[in-house]
Amino acid sequence: MSLPFAAPDDDGSGALFGLDALGSPDPGRSPRTGPLFRDSPAARRLLPVGEIHAEPAAAASPRGRQILARFPAARLVEVDSHWRIPGLHGNAGHVGRWVRVKGETLVLGEKKTLTVRPNGRSADWIAPGASNGCAMACAYCYVPRRKGYANPVTVFTNIDRIIAHLGRHVARQGPKTEPNQCDPQAWVYDIGENGDCSVDALICDNTADLVHAFRQWPTAKASFATKFVNPDLLALDPRGRTRIRFSLMPADDSRLLDIRTSPVADRIAAAGDFLDAGYEVHFNLSPVVVRPGWREAWTELLRQLDDVLPDRVKRQAAAEVIMLTHNQELHEVNLGWHPRAEEVLWQPALQQAKRSENGALNVRYRSGVKAGAVRVLRGLVAAHAPWLRVRYAF
Ligand code: SF4
Repeated sequence: MSLPFAAPDDDGSGALFGLDALGSPDPGRSPRTGPLFRDSPAARRLLPVGEIHAEPAAAASPRGRQILARFPAARLVEVDSHWRIPGLHGNAGHVGRWVRVKGETLVLGEKKTLTVRPNGRSADWIAPGASNGCAMACAYCYVPRRKGYANPVTVFTNIDRIIAHLGRHVARQGPKTEPNQCDPQAWVYDIGENGDCSVDALICDNTADLVHAFRQWPTAKASFATKFVNPDLLALDPRGRTRIRFSLMPADDSRLLDIRTSPVADRIAAAGDFLDAGYEVHFNLSPVVVRPGWREAWTELLRQLDDVLPDRVKRQAAAEVIMLTHNQELHEVNLGWHPRAEEVLWQPALQQAKRSENGALNVRYRSGVKAGAVRVLRGLVAAHAPWLRVRYAF
């Protein structure tokens, strides 16, 4: 299938980023001392920003000015609110330009409501995100649901307030006295619930500021999932206080579903570098998509992990297993731009619908199907990657 909105050299495999096995744009230079990846042509191809919608206060803030300076040719459009932008959010006409809008448009706003929500599965807490939206275009992504069809990255420019709020929350918790599956010692805060922090780091220093903040808090740890290898993160010196979770799925599924992301093999190859740079490196085995041949495909992926990962990565690794959830509205949107993805994502014979609190019709595997698939995947991990502790499977 050809994707009409993709960059001419974007085959959806992520190959357009020109990453070598380390994920570095220039294997001859150390990512710690060389030029920033975010200034490379590969990064500019992912984010050829031509239009920035900004709340006036966000544009005038130090972070806003930093972003405007990074994209000097972009047209600045003043908006009252980052949240509802007529002609950008909820515009069905954008379905044919879904991916182009994600790369060519940015939104700058201020996060007004700062809340830290309890989680207990992936992390102890969900931090107020420093962004919402993503320049990548995974067909199953839940992030755009609340914004309609296009959800380019909204950067929240009041990062100082976000970090101060987090700092107060961390202080209030005190030390963690009982280990749990999130972490034996630290309170874990997910800092990337509604986007991808590795891509945000191509835009501005919000991710860097969060990583630096967490290294001052000995009782807490940041955590985020990513599908993008951004070698600039290797220079942030997180000192063990940030957990990066590379999301993995079989390469065939990823080529079909993870549009614009780094190839799965690059994410795996980057694990050792990120560990050496001071990150804790975990994996998200997600989403698990049940389709003909899925067991064999996951077996191959787990064997690849066992073959390729260095022992030092294996010794500290853990994984989350997350079964696919989908959504009727997203299914209908996807039929407009990527119908082949829906051949595996939309499986009414295996799935059941459940209306969520906000009225959306979410779809997940029927209980028996899901429990069986989780059992199979746990068995495959035990057989082919026995060093990989499954923190939780859901
Ligand atoms: S990388 Fe994450 S946030 Fe971005 S499109 Fe994919 S699932 Fe959504």
